[in-house]
Amino acid sequence: MLAVEGLAKVYPTGKKALGGVDIVIDRPQLVAVIGSSGAGKSTFIRCINRLVEPTAGRVLLNGQDIVALDRKGLRAARRRIGMIFQEYNLVERLSVMQNVLSGRLGYVGLLAALRYRFPPQDIQAAFALLDRVGLAGYHDRRADALSGGQRQRVGIARALMQRPDLLLLDEPTASLDPKTSRQIMRLVRELVAERQTPAIINIHDVALARAYADRIIGMKDGLIVFDAEAGSLTEAA
Ligand code: ADP
Ligand code: ADP
Repeated sequence: MLAVEGLAKVYPTGKKALGGVDIVIDRPQLVAVIGSSGAGKSTFIRCINRLVEPTAGRVLLNGQDIVALDRKGLRAARRRIGMIFQEYNLVERLSVMQNVLSGRLGYVGLLAALRYRFPPQDIQAAFALLDRVGLAGYHDRRADALSGGQRQRVGIARALMQRPDLLLLDEPTASLDPKTSRQIMRLVRELVAERQTPAIINIHDVALARAYADRIIGMKDGLIVFDAEAGSLTEAA
């Protein structure tokens, strides 16, 4: 499914944030990347879909090297990678339904559809996803009228509208209270299994990672220092 080989990043400042990282994800699991602030977690996850441009290495998603793609190829590949952010990145003045539909149509397609009409099968899929993430009946609400947990549920539904081959979650619970964080983690864990879609989650809360992830990768100074099934980790890890 996903093979990362020798992924490295040196920022223009000279900071070596990622020192050559290798991982293979060969089944639909929830993989948590943990490590202290500055360890390189965010750089790692962002190099996978080239929100940050890697300096070296390969990212093979179902055999295709994302790092080698030109701009057009990258745009297509990103359609297959759902991204979920700490600050949700919703369009605040649009409705929940419109935000979710943007996952299928993109924002340009969404603007065109707002003036014309939405494909009925997309609307049906969006309603089903809203139901699944616990937001049945919220389709007409504006995004800016929602709580943080509800916004993140919209973010998850939007990502799933892409029918992604891979989900990337960059600190999705860092702005949420502990109870809401656990609800979101449980939902993500269930969706990974239901949709058979692997997910990489960058998370600084080790307890949450241990409770919900299938596998935990520890990073330090831009390198992987451990990589293990969550159940096999001892307290010392
Ligand atoms: P984490 O997500 O684990 O906190 P980051 O990937 O954000 O770590 O950062 C890794 C290292 O790279 C840190 O030392 C950070 O200061 C540095 N860094 C992150 N982004 C940039 C940037 N745009 N330019 C220079 N250095 C950066
Ligand atoms: P987050 O983890 O929320 O993305 P970061 O602290 O990693 O936030 O970075 C915030 C912004 O500052 C990002 O654009 C990042 O690239 C940049 N940045 C982080 N560390 C450095 C650094 N040492 N030098 C320059 N830019 C940095």
